[in-house]
Amino acid sequence: MLLSDFPRVPLAHLPTPLEHLPRLSEHLGGPDIYVKRDDCTGLATGGNKTRKLEFSMAEALQQGADTIVTVGAVQSNHVRQTAAAACKLGLKCEVLLEHRVAHPSEPYAKSGNVLLDRIFGANLREYPSGTDFELAMSDVADEVRSAGRKPYIIPGGASNKVGALGYVNCALELLEQIQDQRLDIAHIVTATGSAGTQGGLIVGLKAMQSNIPLLGIGVNIPQQAQEEKVYALACETAEYIGKPGCVAREDVVANCDYVGEGYGVPTDSMNEAVLMLARYEGLLFDPVYSGKGLAGMIDLIRNGSLSSGNIVFLHTGGSAALFAYVDQLQT
Ligand SMILES: *Cc1c(COP(=O)(O)O)cnc(C)c1O
Repeated sequence: MLLSDFPRVPLAHLPTPLEHLPRLSEHLGGPDIYVKRDDCTGLATGGNKTRKLEFSMAEALQQGADTIVTVGAVQSNHVRQTAAAACKLGLKCEVLLEHRVAHPSEPYAKSGNVLLDRIFGANLREYPSGTDFELAMSDVADEVRSAGRKPYIIPGGASNKVGALGYVNCALELLEQIQDQRLDIAHIVTATGSAGTQGGLIVGLKAMQSNIPLLGIGVNIPQQAQEEKVYALACETAEYIGKPGCVAREDVVANCDYVGEGYGVPTDSMNEAVLMLARYEGLLFDPVYSGKGLAGMIDLIRNGSLSSGNIVFLHTGGSAALFAYVDQLQT
């Protein structure tokens, strides 16, 4: 599979480490747990969007764009990484911020990722929850064009077939590390949202004929809708890399039982998971994605569903958002 056929700009520190978590594994008394450290991709506190942006930004440059237009929630990690990548590549960044979380606290509205967006000089525009962002982004792109500049639109989470290449690549990297470290891995678990991470990973795994199952823990919408979204993107991505049909519908599995009241709303199990990883392993996770993903993994280990065979948890980053949750996290 020739990912080298696609334009790519180096933005991430790769490969990210694959580390054993001995104290967490012992504490939970189940399988050995490993963490794939995509919180260490290096760009502006790291995270999973950096791998995707290597491909999205390369396409923007190839098309001669000088301005990136993208969208995310107020505490979007994707927006923060995009704003930083734009700076590094000398591009302007127009951001549409969605007020997706009702009644935000002052730190949520001002600190964490959105503070970093401002430091990177992104132009932030605010929109109510439920805006038609496809339309709104094309309006902003028109505005950019009429100012004599050339826009390139990156969808939310950089989750299209271009961005998903970053996670096809991550799957190849991870399989190589599993082999080099002679690990016997029975499950890969990750948080899943806009679908590019899970979609890209499943394409990479299946294209390499791996039979390690991948479980996405949802942070937003119900299971059926999440799986359909991931499957649709996986199919498009598979075709894009010349491996059409390599992913079957049943390869896409999401568990959306750990969302709680909704996207970005803290849950007790997320809170417990964030403290557990901090206090047993010195690792920082986030309240919106990786913390809820971990909460799912921990519960599934405890209830016996993930008790047989070792686990890799893909750490997608996001700890910059912890500061936005200063009033809500119980320590
Ligand atoms: C965006 C994000 C995710 C989800 O990845 P998708 O590709 O959007 O499904 C998980 N964790 C963190 C920290 C994120 O920022």
